[in-house]
Amino acid sequence: MKSLKENFQKAHIVIIGSGIIGRFNALELAQLGYQVTIIDPAQHQNSSNAALGLLMGNMYQKRRGRSWDLRKQSIELWPKWIKFLQKLNCELNIEKPLIQVTTDEEKFKKLEKFVYENNDQNLRILERDSIFIKNINKAFQTKNIKGMISFEDGRINPFSLLQTLNKYLKHKKVNYLQEEIIKIRKSNNQWISTTRNNEDIKSEMVILCNSLKAINLLESQSHNIKLKPVLGQAMEIEVNDAEVDLLSLPKQFNINGKNIIPKSKNKLIIGSTDEYSTKPEEDTFAKLTNFLDKRPNWLMKGKISKKWFGIRSRPDGEPSPIMKNLDNGVILCTGFYKNGILLAPACSKWVANEIKNYLY
Ligand SMILES: Cc1cc2nc3c(=O)[nH]c(=O)nc-3n(C[C@H](O)[C@H](O)[C@H](O)COP(=O)(O)OP(=O)(O)OC[C@H]3O[C@@H](n4cnc5c(N)ncnc54)[C@H](O)[C@@H]3O)c2cc1C
Repeated sequence: MKSLKENFQKAHIVIIGSGIIGRFNALELAQLGYQVTIIDPAQHQNSSNAALGLLMGNMYQKRRGRSWDLRKQSIELWPKWIKFLQKLNCELNIEKPLIQVTTDEEKFKKLEKFVYENNDQNLRILERDSIFIKNINKAFQTKNIKGMISFEDGRINPFSLLQTLNKYLKHKKVNYLQEEIIKIRKSNNQWISTTRNNEDIKSEMVILCNSLKAINLLESQSHNIKLKPVLGQAMEIEVNDAEVDLLSLPKQFNINGKNIIPKSKNKLIIGSTDEYSTKPEEDTFAKLTNFLDKRPNWLMKGKISKKWFGIRSRPDGEPSPIMKNLDNGVILCTGFYKNGILLAPACSKWVANEIKNYLY
């Protein structure tokens, strides 16, 4: 008789969608010994490739409920995964700290209350004479910037992360099929995923990580799940002003809701907007630079050297993300309209537990 371990390792799991959520699930499951196939027609054109990679965990102001629980778990899991993935890419890292600043007195008061009430050693209010505040005020020609620093939050380079995951999945012989799945159905205790080219792939379980399109593969009336598209935009700006040194700014920070990542002395990335739309708009520059009442000249005269966007999925009528064990071996993992990079480790751990429970 075969041991439980042998049965478990033989199980074939199909993951539909290869964004960060699909790939992280594959990492977790391949490491546990499952046979995994990822299916995606366009692995480079998803919202994961558009992400900026900020990991806003500890600075999240609501310290209870499901959303906080997922963040907390991810905050704990990320260092272990980084250590593990560094064996394949020693440069992969979480660049810390993360800074959040505002010119809005009300918002600052909320930040202050949050920091004092939580008594978290990794969170501090930034004093007026802190070097970070001084440099932001100098570069943006402001006087009233205030904010907080989170020593344990930061940024991971999403491109490098996705590449490293690919390297590991290849090493673990995870199959990758460049196909679109148009239908899933159950037959004789197995799931059949049918590709647009009419190929059938059999598996014991299916994990839907295909964002907005997940509902197309479900009998939506029976599950009543609704998703809305949310557009996120970002751009790289080139600045032509010898007086400005963008490298004097913090490595990553959020100012009045916009994320900023200086890339070099004269280049920075700004993102991202949230709009209920699927088409990027013409006025990206205006939308992404409207975070101050008065923009400094160097920013006004800056030129867009790159711009990009991603469409994420937001659950309608229930909180984000949707992680559900549907029926008979289908797991739904979608609706990560924000923070998909941050939450990937907690989400894949949850999926792995659901799979273990289902298969035994
Ligand atoms: C500009 C921008 C900045 C962002 N910044 C951050 C950030 O700083 N930090 C953070 O944590 N998050 C950030 N996000 C959010 C983050 O990108 C998302 O939460 C995350 O990428 C969602 O990942 P996903 O795997 O669910 O979806 P996706 O990456 O969109 O992947 C879904 C995949 O499913 C595939 N697919 C669809 N239908 C099918 C089908 N029928 N068959 C097979 N495959 C299919 C698609 O081709 C796609 O590759 C940002 C997003 C944007 C757009």
